Amino acid sequence: MCGIVGYIGFRQGDQVVISSLKRLEYRGYDSWGYAVANGKEIEIKKKVGSISAVEVKEKRAEGVTVSIGHTRWATHGKPSDINAHPHTDCDEEIAVVHNGIITNFSSLKNELISEGHIFRSETDTEVIPHLIERCYKDSKSFEEAVIKAIKFLKGSYAFVALKKDEKKLIACKYKSPLILGVGDGELIFASDVPAILEYTNRVIYLNDGDIVIAEPGKYRIINERGEVVRDIELIHWSIEDAEKSGYEHFMLKEINENPRVIEDTLGEYVTDKIELDPSFAAGISEIVIVACGTSYHAGLIGKYVIEKLAGIPVRVEYASEYNYHQIIPGRSLILGITQSGETADTLEALRAAKRMGLRTCSIVNVVGSTATKISDHVLFTRAGPEISVAATKSFIAQLIVLYIIAIKLSPLTRQEKKELIEELKSLPEKVQRILDKQHDIDEIAKKLSNFENIMYIGRGLGFPTALEGALKMKEISYIHAEGYPAGELKHGPFALLGENTPVVAVINRDETYEIMLNNIKEVKARESLVIAVSDDKDEEVDNFVDFAIKTPETLPILSPILHSVAFQLLAYFTARIRGCEIDKPRNLAKSVTVE
Ligand code: GLU
Repeated sequence: MCGIVGYIGFRQGDQVVISSLKRLEYRGYDSWGYAVANGKEIEIKKKVGSISAVEVKEKRAEGVTVSIGHTRWATHGKPSDINAHPHTDCDEEIAVVHNGIITNFSSLKNELISEGHIFRSETDTEVIPHLIERCYKDSKSFEEAVIKAIKFLKGSYAFVALKKDEKKLIACKYKSPLILGVGDGELIFASDVPAILEYTNRVIYLNDGDIVIAEPGKYRIINERGEVVRDIELIHWSIEDAEKSGYEHFMLKEINENPRVIEDTLGEYVTDKIELDPSFAAGISEIVIVACGTSYHAGLIGKYVIEKLAGIPVRVEYASEYNYHQIIPGRSLILGITQSGETADTLEALRAAKRMGLRTCSIVNVVGSTATKISDHVLFTRAGPEISVAATKSFIAQLIVLYIIAIKLSPLTRQEKKELIEELKSLPEKVQRILDKQHDIDEIAKKLSNFENIMYIGRGLGFPTALEGALKMKEISYIHAEGYPAGELKHGPFALLGENTPVVAVINRDETYEIMLNNIKEVKARESLVIAVSDDKDEEVDNFVDFAIKTPETLPILSPILHSVAFQLLAYFTARIRGCEIDKPRNLAKSVTVE
């Protein structure tokens, strides 16, 4: 998920990788490390904490140096010196740095242990050097061993491997970013452009399935079809632009990561069946979700979905209010949702539940965070580090985990579950279609950007989707936005409607459809501008509203995912038109560690 660097060239490799890793610090990380192959052995340094003060002062005598480096954002195994990368095989002849998640690592690890391999870390990554070691025994070369090894891997990876006595780096990419910078007599791999700009602006964006063999001054790229040629692109970005992969803001970059995040989070729990520790919800009679902000809205969507699919009652509480309710000991499962795992209110609610003897589980994005330590069970989202204060991809990942819980707990037939999972698997591509049409949403944002109040409405699953849409809008555009159940308008908020208050309506093609259209008619009669988000097969809605944002058709129960991505973009573009400081909205912090 984080930073990866590999260097082969005339400069001193360890110095290059350290300085390049510093360029990747903005991505967030918990530990760092690097390795140098000096011909006789592999020298490794790795540590928890910040790399910013690390420097290599001593000069090396040898010419070409081969080095790899890594900033880790833990996904498997807590942040610790031992879990930091690089990882090696048993004899410390091969070292690997890896970004991504090897989803089948646990079965591979058991297999390798039974063959006598000794593991040192808790990471998924460590299976890679051991697999290469195993394959090396009956291979003619290091590269043949790597090619054989990756056939065993499932999940996502960008990794660079070196061997103690080879002037060679081998890099493989599958579903995690990896680029190759091509300098004059030097080659540098990295997960991201800022890491290489000091050395070259000539870049190859590697494709999934690419394997690169880099040797002093030359490289070959192969994939399963044989040798391939990839174009070299010239990058003209400043380092600052490069950090955002050319996007204007981290928020937009992160919204654009949604397809990968859905895939990675699904990959964590779904093989051909759903993999969830069965003890996590055994014998529970009720789920109480405790969360704050965007995570609270994920919880509300989770309530509708879990109750609908699993028939288990779900209460959703603002974590900050939970302590003021009667906490009743019993068979409830307390489910905390927190991106950072450090949200003080959520931690306090989890602790209070624990004191009452209740079972706790957390949905968390950060491995090793406090929530993971104080909860009985942990379900990780695989959103990767989120830099923009407004949560986007982490929210979508939380929804995916909540859907997984609901499907797992539901009494649906195997076939019905399979259909839902298949549809979930189609969402990355559907989200991509929304992202491809983001300029249409920009046009609609232009209509909204001059108002000072917006009402978001929905029914059923559309209601929490509306709440989250309104929250995104208010936190980054500073427009006062309210989310309301459409049925509640008549009980008060109707008084606010009129030509100065546009209404954004979530239209879902389920049992709420007809009545939502009726509600929109009522709103139109008050002369509010109406913008709908609905699916692209729904033509009828166009007769009722001023503008519609169309998202690809999906099962109505999954529509909050697609509608929310559209709302993230709507808030983003509105804030951009208003010239707001999008990534760091005023008065807000990314991780709220005070109650
Ligand atoms: N899954 C690996 C780990 O937890 C790699 C994490 C990363 O991409 O930084 O060590």
